[in-house]
Amino acid sequence: MKQPHVFAGNPLDRGDQQRRDEEWLQAQSQSPNSRFLPLRNLDILLDRRSDIRLGWIDAAEVRRLNITAAPLFLGISDGVSRFAIDVSELNDQAAGELVPNETRWFEEARDAAMALSLAEAGIVAQARMQIDWHARHRFCGVCGEQTHIARGGQMRLCPSCNSNHFPRTDPVIIVVVGHGDDCLLGQSRGRLSRLGWYSALAGFVDQAESIEEAVRREVREESGIEVGDVQYHSSQPWPFPSSLMIGCHAQALTTEIHHDEEEMADVRWWNRADALSALQGRHPDLKLPGPIAIAHHLIKSWAENPTAD
Ligand SMILES: [Zn+2]
Repeated sequence: MKQPHVFAGNPLDRGDQQRRDEEWLQAQSQSPNSRFLPLRNLDILLDRRSDIRLGWIDAAEVRRLNITAAPLFLGISDGVSRFAIDVSELNDQAAGELVPNETRWFEEARDAAMALSLAEAGIVAQARMQIDWHARHRFCGVCGEQTHIARGGQMRLCPSCNSNHFPRTDPVIIVVVGHGDDCLLGQSRGRLSRLGWYSALAGFVDQAESIEEAVRREVREESGIEVGDVQYHSSQPWPFPSSLMIGCHAQALTTEIHHDEEEMADVRWWNRADALSALQGRHPDLKLPGPIAIAHHLIKSWAENPTAD
């Protein structure tokens, strides 16, 4: 079995049965045995009294700091109920009590994930996605009434029209297109081009579109290249804010690039030797995303497996 990507590998039992029991949830949210992960403006509380870990707090600390946001039930590990809790509304003084000295601090989720174990990075993804979704979906999309949290955060309910609202996950295809000994990599405008990086081509799946169709359309739009066979490789939750990256390899049918000037700063073919040395950070012109990103693993898998074409 392949090792999961960063942000996958969450070990919690999400408690599908338990979270339907409001009384049980209420008791767990006050139990001294439960643990709460504070997020402030979507940054995660970390703790490095020994090695770097998630900064879980207990119910007594939630009460002491007068945190009023509803805790979102993440799941259970070793009999301990785990919740995420949004502390963005705390004033600076109260928030300061969560980070009393240099052993605790709030960290941006990407940097937190790189410092944590795979298991804890998976919990970061779930916590960040949950808190962000609830903050953005407070009102019913059907009738406009204010909704409330149900099943510990797995959904929101409208008290007026009884609609159920479930968290969204946005599918994104990301693809390394190969042609013989070359692979197609692009530099999207914005962050990648400022950093001088190339990466696999990527884009959101449209409504009523298969993964294969999304791959062919995105590659055509961004590079002008026509694609034939598409093969699924692996996937990665990407909590910025709510994507699921669907990693693929594909075969090019054409080679002449006409890249989308508006979206892409550059798209070009790089050969296997370029990719291999760039993956080790030793290429003078080609910089690739690091191992936190699925793109790194898609490029690596293509470069190291010539027979996979
Ligand atoms: Zn409604």
